[in-house]
Amino acid sequence: MYVEKFESISKDDVGIAGGKGANLGELTQAGIPVPPGFIVTAETYNKFMNDTGIFDNIMDILNGIDINNTKELQKSAKKIKEIIIDAPIPEDISALIIEAYNALCQKVGVEDVLVAIRSSATAEDLPEASFAGQQDTFLNIYGSESVIDYVRKCWASLFEARAIFYREENNFEHSKVYIAVVVQEMVESEKAGVMFTVNPSTGEDVALIEGSWGLGEAVVSGSVTPDTYYVDKKSNEILNFNIADKKVMFEKLPNGETKQVDVPEELRNKRVLSEAELVELTEMGKRIQKHYGAPQDTEWAFYDNTLFMLQSRPITTLDESSSNEKEESDIENREVIVRGLGASPGMAAGTVKIIKKIDELDKIKNGDIMVTTMTTPDMVPAMKRSNGIITDEGGITCHAAIISRELGIPCVVGTGNATEILKENNKVTIDGKKGLVFEGEFQISEENKQDESVVAQSAAPIITVTEVKANVSMPEAAKKAFATGADGVGLLRTEHMMLTAGVHPNKFIQDNREDELVKILMENILKVVDVFYPKPVWYRTLDAPTDEFQTLEGGEEEPHEHNPMLGWRGIRRELDEPEILKAEFKAIKKLYEQGYTNIGVMIPLSQSPDELIKAKKIAEEVGLRPHKDIDFGIMVETPAAALIIEEFIDIGIDFASLGTNDLTQYTLAVDRNNELVAKNYNEEHPAVLKLIERTIRKCNEAGVTSSICGQAGSKPHIVEKLVELGINSVSANTDAVGDVRHTVARSEQKLILDAARKQKK
Ligand code: PEP
Ligand code: MG
Repeated sequence: MYVEKFESISKDDVGIAGGKGANLGELTQAGIPVPPGFIVTAETYNKFMNDTGIFDNIMDILNGIDINNTKELQKSAKKIKEIIIDAPIPEDISALIIEAYNALCQKVGVEDVLVAIRSSATAEDLPEASFAGQQDTFLNIYGSESVIDYVRKCWASLFEARAIFYREENNFEHSKVYIAVVVQEMVESEKAGVMFTVNPSTGEDVALIEGSWGLGEAVVSGSVTPDTYYVDKKSNEILNFNIADKKVMFEKLPNGETKQVDVPEELRNKRVLSEAELVELTEMGKRIQKHYGAPQDTEWAFYDNTLFMLQSRPITTLDESSSNEKEESDIENREVIVRGLGASPGMAAGTVKIIKKIDELDKIKNGDIMVTTMTTPDMVPAMKRSNGIITDEGGITCHAAIISRELGIPCVVGTGNATEILKENNKVTIDGKKGLVFEGEFQISEENKQDESVVAQSAAPIITVTEVKANVSMPEAAKKAFATGADGVGLLRTEHMMLTAGVHPNKFIQDNREDELVKILMENILKVVDVFYPKPVWYRTLDAPTDEFQTLEGGEEEPHEHNPMLGWRGIRRELDEPEILKAEFKAIKKLYEQGYTNIGVMIPLSQSPDELIKAKKIAEEVGLRPHKDIDFGIMVETPAAALIIEEFIDIGIDFASLGTNDLTQYTLAVDRNNELVAKNYNEEHPAVLKLIERTIRKCNEAGVTSSICGQAGSKPHIVEKLVELGINSVSANTDAVGDVRHTVARSEQKLILDAARKQKK
């Protein structure tokens, strides 16, 4: 069918109605009060494309397109959109849309009902594929002629440059992605917000409700700090609530547009939801959860004192274990056979596979425990198959540690001799928090496994002034990082991207394959900036110590240095090999032109302001304008940079991010990769703290954003100090974002309280 009322659509109709449409249909069918509406189905779009004869023409344009040629892409996108907008809608389709719109007006009881018109794209073979946010939504439309026009605009938005680019990058065939259009009555709510039917951070069985004045946009977009209420689902008793100072709201103007306005003074600190409304919402939440059989993340609105539900989706950030019965662990009775540093928390059991040479990686089957001297980038696929990882070498910021934290795999590093003591095919259990390896494979309680519910916090509950971001080393992990509710990516490492290439970046340049290198970088960076858009992502230019890249094709030519940590890496190396830096900047420039304005560049191992000047010049040479197009900053990883940060500020930086992993090793003369001196490695050494404090103070004085992305930023007790010092953002490992956010919130509140108490005295 071409046009369907919500009443005739269910959650199984994603292929017809797109995800959004199917969801609204499902709620309507379940008797949940949803503002009424209809769906112009994906089939209608297909009919339009075929009946008007424009389909082949559009596919021809798409076939010849080079998506990496921005101008060409934009020109083609514009041309396709024009073709669609200019094509008259066949009368049989427009008659059906008019009929549905008139029926809607009649149902609501007004002459021309105000509607929202939203795109809901779907892929033929993969109806669940996500195209969220890529196509257009139009609000406050009325009149049947306009409705038809805007439906066609939604269809045309399937060919925005960004959407074409995304489909090509993700191998979706253009001809198999369709678009349904949702037409729904706009409710001009007095109050609105979101409701989680369980606590999304802990899985606790309480309703967490957030609400503010006006249209729901204010809460959903994060423009306002809403009131928060926790309601017991059994007794409907309000367990806890917080009334926020609600400064802004969205309202509808007489011309139909929405506008952000100040909340009237008398409403700012007034409680939004009454007890009766909270009970009504909680009851509704229970009903929806029961219907779907899983906890839900919903949007609601009160309009004319009547509750409407606008959206419901599963809470994807919850782990099964949060509601599971906890099993008993018999860990105390086991014998510790190897000790090292706890590098990635969680417990795991499995069969030991010792990897001495890279060509032995196939030995690792799903669920094994990898034991090796130290991991290298080309071991990552095998690391992914492992239940746990144990290394002889390394400290808590070594390759194995960083990657396993991001993969969510328990890991013990720096054991000294695990590859000798552990025997091939023996069963072991590891405790990645305490750094212990036990003999035997035993049952692990769900509580002790890597707990996704800890990793994946909701985006909603805690709002802090100090931003809490995530570090990303593997682009594939971006979604997991985003699910923590992080305010952006404070460190996107490049090194791992080279793994997917399997080839040393220099080799691309030597073989005249720069284009390929740019493409690989673009594809990888895209995975992160797209997931996080519009939240900022700071891309750290390549920092490749010579010893870590030797196993890549072309890596044979890497020099053998006595001390790679003090050697040819970071910006000093990039300035010696500017072609690689150029390729990185070209990739960023192209993404910037695709509309990814959320990328920043961060220069590693900065030592002298001269390097910054040269790096900016190279960016400009490829047409990427530091500070104008993108934020440009440095990492403070050498005592030199911390001690003369003013000079970098004078030249111009948008931010300085403390790389305490390196800053600590260079301040204390302790090789971070050497387990023999791991006990001497201390990020809280007074000398390191002095450098950190100086950097934050000087940045604050100059109005430059200060941040941290080293491991110290994942340690709550250090974060407390950083907040006191006035740091602007903290970027933590994915597994630590939730804890760090709590610490930041508590530290900020303590500062406010202390100040208030002082004033009283
Ligand atoms: C650091 O040095 O603190 C840092 C974040 O960079 P990396 O660990 O990649 O050297
Ligand atoms: Mg570093």
